[in-house]
Amino acid sequence: MQAFATARDAALALRPDEPVYGFRPSVLKADARSFLEAFGGRTAYAVKTNGEPMILKVLAEAGIDTFDVASPAEFAAVRSVAPNAGMLYMHPVKAQSHIRLALEQYGIRTLALDHEDEVAKIVRIVRALDIPPPEVTLFVRLLTKGAAAYELSKKFGAGPAHAVELLNRIAGLGFKTGIAFHVGSQVEDPDTFERALASTAWVRSRIKTDIAELDIGGGFPAQYGVDPRKSNGAPTPTVPELMTRIAADTVEWGLDDLPIVAEPGRVIVARCLSVLVRVMLKKGQRVYINDGVWSSLSDSWTGKLLLPTRLIPDPARSRRNGSPDRIVPFRICGATCDSVDILSRPFLLPETVDTGDWIEIGHIGAYSLGLRTRFNGFYPDTFVEIATPFEEEAGVAGFAAPEMRGGH
Ligand SMILES: *Cc1c(COP(=O)(O)O)cnc(C)c1O
Repeated sequence: MQAFATARDAALALRPDEPVYGFRPSVLKADARSFLEAFGGRTAYAVKTNGEPMILKVLAEAGIDTFDVASPAEFAAVRSVAPNAGMLYMHPVKAQSHIRLALEQYGIRTLALDHEDEVAKIVRIVRALDIPPPEVTLFVRLLTKGAAAYELSKKFGAGPAHAVELLNRIAGLGFKTGIAFHVGSQVEDPDTFERALASTAWVRSRIKTDIAELDIGGGFPAQYGVDPRKSNGAPTPTVPELMTRIAADTVEWGLDDLPIVAEPGRVIVARCLSVLVRVMLKKGQRVYINDGVWSSLSDSWTGKLLLPTRLIPDPARSRRNGSPDRIVPFRICGATCDSVDILSRPFLLPETVDTGDWIEIGHIGAYSLGLRTRFNGFYPDTFVEIATPFEEEAGVAGFAAPEMRGGH
């Protein structure tokens, strides 16, 4: 991988016409370590957020030794970079053959479920492989409600009364039990976690035997941009702020005696990756770029996230309109011919932006590489390494991380 000190250096040296990803391994390492430091329990990185080998490798080096996995490809990806890492198979709905592979080939002993038929599938394999049930921990995924950029409880989770039934059944079969929830992604309101903890306490108080572990899932928010025209004043909580609050809530709901696991994804990987795109055309307040919702930017589209950006003007362009100091919102049109390929949030850019310029789009490490498609023939796959953290290089617009917030 070619390495550059800054994104500007990369843009001006390569003058790329295809999107180029800027990977910052030192930022990834720092963000993984900050999470490990702020969270007192066991950290299981959620591989679906970004399962690229280069990412998993750096995370393992940073000290992450447990991974939340959901498919055979994810088992293999983790095993190949971190042969001794623990894996939690937390997909509530699994293929019978995948359960067998997990237990038999990968030695996985922790699984999640939200229905009795899933218990039956697991029991069948456990018996066939002659595994003693007490060696296996089964987490019941609890239904939760709350406000997240993505609401995942619409799809998975057992209601509290159903969870009580499932836990009693699992304990009766001799398995170790746990309660898991996952409140969604980019959860900005800490009350959402508290409601899930309250529900956990209710379930725990009604089961016959106690649980062995609590899994609070992922959903911890990363720092994205804030549109100054729409700022509602409530800043995104930082990891230490959120962890302090969650720790206090576990005490309040009488859950602090349990071993606790978290499955962070986004908050760990968002900042370590950017994409350097080129402006194909500027048409009034619209900017057409060579990436979009079918390549690197679908997460910002569905999650309605405003991404921080940096304009890197093409020095070859001599004439420009407007002032480079005036930052204005531009509607962003993606590379494909599809009419839905328009971002749901603007980019804030200097009004001088024009055809041929580059835009570095920051904090796209979560739900980007894994969601690229080959639609319309566009598939960005070029990577460079960049030493300077995105927000430390000059010219960022639309950013509102706590350390940058003070100024306005
Ligand atoms: C996707 C997922 C995560 C990670 O969510 P983030 O919002 O990226 O932190 C954690 N746990 C489960 C079960 C998931 O499906």
